[in-house]
Amino acid sequence: MPDLTIRNGSVVTPEGIVRAGIAIENESIVDIAPDLSPAPVDIDASGLTILPGLIDIHLHFNEPGRAEWEGGETGSRALAAGGGTLFFDMPLNSTPCTINAREFDKKVAALSIACITDFALWGGLVPGNLEQLDELADRGVVGFKAFLCDSGLPEFPRADDLTLYEGMQRAAKLGLPIAVHAESEEITKSLQQRISASGATDIGAFLESRPVIAEVEAITRAGLMARETGCKLHIVHISSGKGVAAALEARRLGADVSLETCPHYLLFTNDDLHRLGAIAKCTPPLRNNEQRTALWSSVLSGEIDAIGSDHSPCPPEMKQRENFFQVWGGIAGVQWTLPALIEKGLAPERIAALTAQNGARRFGIRDRGAIAVGAFADLVLVDIGALQIVQEADLFQRHKVTPYLGMKLRGVVRKTIRRGQLIYSEGTISAQTRGKLIKPKRTIQ
Ligand SMILES: [Zn+2]
Repeated sequence: MPDLTIRNGSVVTPEGIVRAGIAIENESIVDIAPDLSPAPVDIDASGLTILPGLIDIHLHFNEPGRAEWEGGETGSRALAAGGGTLFFDMPLNSTPCTINAREFDKKVAALSIACITDFALWGGLVPGNLEQLDELADRGVVGFKAFLCDSGLPEFPRADDLTLYEGMQRAAKLGLPIAVHAESEEITKSLQQRISASGATDIGAFLESRPVIAEVEAITRAGLMARETGCKLHIVHISSGKGVAAALEARRLGADVSLETCPHYLLFTNDDLHRLGAIAKCTPPLRNNEQRTALWSSVLSGEIDAIGSDHSPCPPEMKQRENFFQVWGGIAGVQWTLPALIEKGLAPERIAALTAQNGARRFGIRDRGAIAVGAFADLVLVDIGALQIVQEADLFQRHKVTPYLGMKLRGVVRKTIRRGQLIYSEGTISAQTRGKLIKPKRTIQ
C-alpha cells in the first residue's frame, strides 16, 4: 500500500500533462493513474498543477561561515516554500570556500543539519587548487565554478586564463562541467576604475562599467577553451540576448555548452534597477529591454537550458552604501522562481524542463527532475491561476530584502513534497526530517 496519494491533479510529465493522481511509497513514485487505492495520507489536488520539485542549480546559502547572510535553515525553507526540493550550492559565499575536500566535508556537515531540502554542491576552481579537483570530484561535486572576473570576495579569486584552461583539462578527465561567471575582468575592471576616477559612483556608473560586450567576450573565450579541452561548459546567469548568441555560437563551433539564466533577468530591466536601487543590484547587471526581450525569446525557443535563482543575499547594511560600486551584488529571490515564470506565461511543461528536468539531466542527477514511476517523489503542487502580492510575511529567507516585495505574481505554491514527505503546506513548513547530499553520476572519459 502506498504511504501517500495525491489525487485529481494536472500532472506535468515529460510526455505531457495528464489528469491523474500519484501514489508514493518509500520516497518514490509507484503509480501515476486516474484511480488509485487509498493511502494513510491522501491529498486532494483538484484545481492544482503538479510539477517536479524545483532543482535550483545555482544559489548561495553561505553556510558555513556566513550563515548570518542567509544559512541553510532559512534558505532551504524559502526554497521549499517556492516549490523547491533540491539545490546546488555554489562554492562561495560560504567561507572557507568549497575548494578542497576538507571544506566540502564541512559544508555537507553544516547543510545536513540545517536544510529541509536535499542539496548538491558545486566545487570551486581558483588559482592554485588544480590538485584538489580530483578529491572534490570523489566527494561528489556536480562541477566546478570559476569566476572570470572579480568575485567580490578575496578568498575566491578569479580564474585567470591558464587556471581556466588547466581546470577544464582536469574537469574533462573527471567527467564534470566547469561553470563560469562570464564577464571580462579586463573590461569591467578598467571601466570601473576610469568611471570611479571621474567621480561617478551611482547606478548609472555601475551599469556603464559592466557592458554586454564584457559578457559576450568572456563567454566566447570560455567556449574556445571548452572546445580545446573537451570540457563541458555551463554558463551561469546569462543576462542578455547577445550572451545567448555567443553561447550558441560556441556550441555551433563544437563546444558542449549549457545555458542558464535567472528570473530577474527576465522580469526586470536596467530601468527597474534605477527604480528599485541596491536590492536589484546583481552582476552581470540587469539589462535594457531589448536584451531582456531577446533573452525571453531564447527561453521560449528552448535555447536556454535551465533557470536558477542565483539567490545571493547579504545583510541589509551591505545594500546601504553611498558608492553603488560598493553595494553587495546579489538578488535574493529563491522563493519566487516558479511564480515569476508562471506570471511570464510560460507553459507548465516548459517550466518543468527549465527548473528541474534539464538541470537533472545535464548534471547527472538520477531519478529526479521529472515525474515518472520509479523517480523520487519530489513534487510541487501549485495553483497556477491564483494571484499573490509578495509581502514580507511570506518570505522565509533570513533578511526580508528582495526586489520581489510588493509584486503581483500569478501561481501560488500550495504544497511541496520532498522524497514523499510533505515539507511545505499552505504557508507552513511541515518537514519532519532533514535533507541530504545528492551526488551526480559522472561520465568519465
Ligand atoms: Zn551566483
